[in-house]
Amino acid sequence: MTPEVSRSYVLPSHANTRKTDAIRELLPHWRRGLIHAQVIQSRRMREGRRLGYIKTSAMPGYLSQRQWKSVVNQVNAALRSWQARMTSAMKAPIAAIPDLTDAQRRALYKANLRHEWWANAALEPLVIDLMRSSLPLPNFASCRTMAMDASCVTLEAAESGSPHAVWARISRRPGEGTLLIPLGRNRHESTAPGERRNFLQVTVSDRDVIYRVVRNRAKAKIRRPKDPKVLGVDWGMCSMASTSDGRRLGTAVYTWLVARDQQLMALEAALRRQGVRPTDSRRYRRFQGRIREYVRNEVGRIINRLVRDPQLAEIVVEDLDFRSPKLSKRMNRLITRAGRGAWSAKLASLEADTGVSVTAVHAAYTSRACSGCGYVDKRNRPSQAKFRCAFCGRVLNADINGARAIRQRRSLSGIGPAMPRHQVLAQIDEEFLRRWRTDPRQLRERPLRPSRRANGARLAPVNGDSGVIAEEPSLGVETFSRDTG
Ligand SMILES: [Zn+2]
Repeated sequence: MTPEVSRSYVLPSHANTRKTDAIRELLPHWRRGLIHAQVIQSRRMREGRRLGYIKTSAMPGYLSQRQWKSVVNQVNAALRSWQARMTSAMKAPIAAIPDLTDAQRRALYKANLRHEWWANAALEPLVIDLMRSSLPLPNFASCRTMAMDASCVTLEAAESGSPHAVWARISRRPGEGTLLIPLGRNRHESTAPGERRNFLQVTVSDRDVIYRVVRNRAKAKIRRPKDPKVLGVDWGMCSMASTSDGRRLGTAVYTWLVARDQQLMALEAALRRQGVRPTDSRRYRRFQGRIREYVRNEVGRIINRLVRDPQLAEIVVEDLDFRSPKLSKRMNRLITRAGRGAWSAKLASLEADTGVSVTAVHAAYTSRACSGCGYVDKRNRPSQAKFRCAFCGRVLNADINGARAIRQRRSLSGIGPAMPRHQVLAQIDEEFLRRWRTDPRQLRERPLRPSRRANGARLAPVNGDSGVIAEEPSLGVETFSRDTG
């Protein structure tokens, strides 16, 4: 069987108030069913039995048989995902149990994989501890989502020319017949590849009822081009994305955002003068929504453009950060959130969609590290836009250097994702020392050798000071030899 990925899409509701109210009225019964089913399934789990089907004919009559099937499946899905998270969370505490032989520890790992947590005297206290601290069982008491699968919903495509896209035929509570909900089109959904499943996720909020459908499609094969390309990508503000092969993408975004920022601040000030809280203003919220959507679209557009290159096999990235000191705090928060959201959503599905793999690296010091020699120094950045290495003299655009430094970080071993910054620096320094036999810690304490720029830039342009790459190390290092070993 080919592995599949599924994606959900919101379809706009075309249901009238009567139908919407009928859905709202179903929620408390559904929730009661979820809690009931969870009690049964949790007991099974503790007894070491498999989660399986519950004989729905034996369940109370406040839900129909069909609804009970969906409810049990929803509970099972939530519990299985909880089990998976618990299995991986248990690894560390098992590794930390003192005084075990290798064989004993292996046996515990195996029991953990089989979820035998309650039957095992060594595992039980660990699992209880994790349930108290970080991984409680799913709580359905406040659940607002009904996952209706094929046992209680049928999705039918509407006839062409209809204002609707889909009719959802939902089985109702005993004695109530079926409910027919018309749903509108979602451009992304109707053009998405793959099959629409007979599945409807219905979320009831205070304001409205949200309907999501799911499409399944085959997972893309991992790309293995003849000449595989690994691309470092640095997210920033002057150009939204810079790549290790020297491209700068989304260069117009910043100008657009600066203009919107001024409008946003002006609107906020005007609202405050009228005594209106900006978050209470529909106009303000809509304006923010527009900015968010723009950022999301740009991020998506850039990534689509990168993966169009058939040779691209891997993207190396660090945490995305769009902040700019020239934008207001509010704007920075807005675009960082929108950008991060779009970026992580895109990344999560990139491999499944395109076969391009994604590697995340530690972000520390990538903006100060020279992509040529690996030297880290804050003086490598004479300005926001320019990179000039104080050791090897390399001069290039700071964002492009950042993208290259990110790409190189991938092959620097020993840097874990949660490592503190000073340890990351120690690793980079060690690599530098090994390579150049020069201690970067001492270099950083030395004053910069007075450069020609400092001496004479104001007086007379000296030959070689017009952006030409300087060849010699400018920190006053006498000799350095490349490690050829
Ligand atoms: Zn350098």
